[in-house]
Amino acid sequence: MNALAMREYRWSPDAKFIKRSDGNAVAVNFANSTKLVFGPEESNAISAFSGLTFPFALEDDLSDSLRSTLVHGGFLVPEEDFEARDRMIREAVRTVAEESSGLIIMPTEKCNFRCTYCYESFAKGRMRPERVDALARVIEARIQQARSFSLGFFGGEPLLCSDIILRLCGEAMEQCGRKGIFFGASMSTNAALLTPALFDQLIDVGLVFFQVTLDGDRELHDRQRVTVKGKGTFDGIVEHLRAMAATRHDFTVALRCNVHPEDSERVLSLFDGEELAFVRNDPRFIIDVHYIWQSDRQTLAETSKEGCLSGLQAGLDKYVLNAELSRRGLSTTSYDDVPGILGSACYAGKKNWFIVGADLKLYKCTVVFDNPKNNVGHIDLDGNMVIDERLNRLWTGSNSTTDSGCGSCYLRVPCGGLACPLTRFTSGSKGCLELRDAGNLRNWAERLSVPATGQISPVATH
Ligand code: SF4
Ligand code: SF4
Repeated sequence: MNALAMREYRWSPDAKFIKRSDGNAVAVNFANSTKLVFGPEESNAISAFSGLTFPFALEDDLSDSLRSTLVHGGFLVPEEDFEARDRMIREAVRTVAEESSGLIIMPTEKCNFRCTYCYESFAKGRMRPERVDALARVIEARIQQARSFSLGFFGGEPLLCSDIILRLCGEAMEQCGRKGIFFGASMSTNAALLTPALFDQLIDVGLVFFQVTLDGDRELHDRQRVTVKGKGTFDGIVEHLRAMAATRHDFTVALRCNVHPEDSERVLSLFDGEELAFVRNDPRFIIDVHYIWQSDRQTLAETSKEGCLSGLQAGLDKYVLNAELSRRGLSTTSYDDVPGILGSACYAGKKNWFIVGADLKLYKCTVVFDNPKNNVGHIDLDGNMVIDERLNRLWTGSNSTTDSGCGSCYLRVPCGGLACPLTRFTSGSKGCLELRDAGNLRNWAERLSVPATGQISPVATH
């Protein structure tokens, strides 16, 4: 027996091994976003030790190449390295939770759309110039302190104030460049104002991620997403998306589809058709299917056990739907992305992330703006952030370092116990990620596209 086989190993607490109905099996390591597929023979061998929480020796007849694949993918951890690796993982999660820094800015709360399911009040208009100046000073100060910094834009419709976005991003990009840290910004936009000329300008100042909503085919979309005057919006959005696809810019568009389960077929037909053919096989476009909430979010957040990033999507077999989309050459959030460190955590749970209202009030959560516990501070006109640390801790204090259940969960790296800080203190529920559910995990693995047997597939991390 060789020395390697004599060694003791542990199965990674961050890894899952899932048998599929075709006889193959999928192994996913959520700590490093690695996924592997194994044929029936290897699957049987791995089943003997996958999930074991105590040290074990490998059978003599396990091939060196299989052992090596599992060790390199972090599925098997040599016993002598286990404690150090575990500490390293916990520290990485803690660092991101505490040291990553970002602001999600609402340059206006007004919107040019009136979607039938929208929960916003549209109460506050454009951020006033002296407030933009104060915010710019805050951004500069935070960049000086941060190890990584991001800006996000949300609304209302943020592109109603594209001049504010261009200014803040342009300055932040320059300041991050001087400091030698990466700057990238994201935006949730309805895309009605996202003309080719503006898109070029936004790309130049580091806007690289856009969330744009298309709620199905033209008829379905135009029934739900209408302008203030009640007009359909499908054609204008598609025209802008097509122009984006025709560029050589490096960006990501998450095409969000808010659907009722009974409309799944309509979503598929949208991506089957010619109108969106430009999206197929272009990895810059990712389809992100969500289930339309059945009641308004304010009520729901006080009573539900589920957060907006997680179980509210339950009820729609989105794995089946996404598998169909994948077969059509489309990238989807559920399939082609195993999130990196806190990649599935809500920003509300991160200590140095805040939502900035048009009046410079600071919030943690983009759902319950009327909840007094969400207003954790403000920015004054001298450019100081005034934060109620007690309230901030309400959102950030419970996580995988304080909750032993989360600390031992296989999703502790992408989630960190921060799936939904709101439901933690309103209903007492953690709002776990969908993949925490065994049935969802099985459905996901069943349809996961993975490379050839035994190939390690490092997947994009955030
Ligand atoms: S805390 Fe985060 S996940 Fe929960 S409702 Fe608010 S924004 Fe959504
Ligand atoms: S909140 Fe749920 S999914 Fe997230 S780490 Fe905790 S137990 Fe796991």
